[in-house]
Amino acid sequence: MKITQIRAIQPETPGAPQDWRTQLGQIVVQVQTESGEVGLGVGGGGAASIHVIDTVLRDLLIGRDARDVEQLHREMLRHTVFYGRSGLVVMAISGIDLALWDLRGKAQGCCVARLLNPAVDLTRSLPTYATVFDDVDAEQAIQTGHSAIKLHVERFGDRPDPSDIRQLVQRVRDRLGQEAMVMIDAFARWDFESSLEVAEAIADQQVSWLEEPLPPDDLDGYEALAGRSPVPIAGGEHEYTAAGFQQLIDRKLHHILQPDINWCGGLTTLVEVYRMAQSHGIRVCPHRGSEPFALQAIAALDDDPLAESPRNWFHSLAGAPQIEQGSIRPGEAPGFGVSLLNRDK
Ligand SMILES: [Mg+2]
Repeated sequence: MKITQIRAIQPETPGAPQDWRTQLGQIVVQVQTESGEVGLGVGGGGAASIHVIDTVLRDLLIGRDARDVEQLHREMLRHTVFYGRSGLVVMAISGIDLALWDLRGKAQGCCVARLLNPAVDLTRSLPTYATVFDDVDAEQAIQTGHSAIKLHVERFGDRPDPSDIRQLVQRVRDRLGQEAMVMIDAFARWDFESSLEVAEAIADQQVSWLEEPLPPDDLDGYEALAGRSPVPIAGGEHEYTAAGFQQLIDRKLHHILQPDINWCGGLTTLVEVYRMAQSHGIRVCPHRGSEPFALQAIAALDDDPLAESPRNWFHSLAGAPQIEQGSIRPGEAPGFGVSLLNRDK
């Protein structure tokens, strides 16, 4: 399965910024082998990430055996380590890694979930949660059958009044009922004091987790917060590579880890994160887990699956499973089971 071509593009994505400076610059990577088979992955990093693939990673991989996924992953990381230990270079590697896993599944005629776990039950629907950004989103999620909702709270600023957050949680809790899951996402905007104040203010509201309250590099802050917060702390969507996650796990900085398969290093990294986290009793709940790449891993590896709603600005893939009434069933087509829509080919 010699690799003969690697192509990376940034599809038109209405509503999303097109440059590399936001994490929203999703790219599609296609890895082709000499037999003509094409593996498809999604990474991040936009035009800058495509440049890394075109000028560095392609040269490393052309002519290599696509079946050596883990070895190629190691080589890509080592080859870029002096300038790419986190961020957009790893986002580029993620897209290639996923394309290689897609090829591995297609070569064996089975979905990636079954590659990872031959005993996986693919008749089972997995529970999901909806991530919402305002009250309109929240109401829509409730109307479409979601009983688990994560509330982004950036609208309350960098030093929020904890009572505002408490009232928001109460409003959503009143609509959903006592049994429903409610989570909070601060998108790395707060400091330690604000985070602890909010956590204490919502301590009796059965909030399942407080997500990314601090910037991702504030490891000391996370350590202190994880030890004192009455609400479980989640994070990790902006962490990269198994080495990065090893630190978070060893220092017990989070109760729930949320690697993003399309950014963190791909499925090869996500498998490692699951292994490390499970051996330390830390839950893994992948970022945007209802998207077709993470969903296969959750189905195969997760003892307590919960898949986050997909981002609604990425419309380039055909074949992605859809959430129905708050749950989702992974596909069984070979690889990740998705293809590129004609307009983006
Ligand atoms: Mg988040």
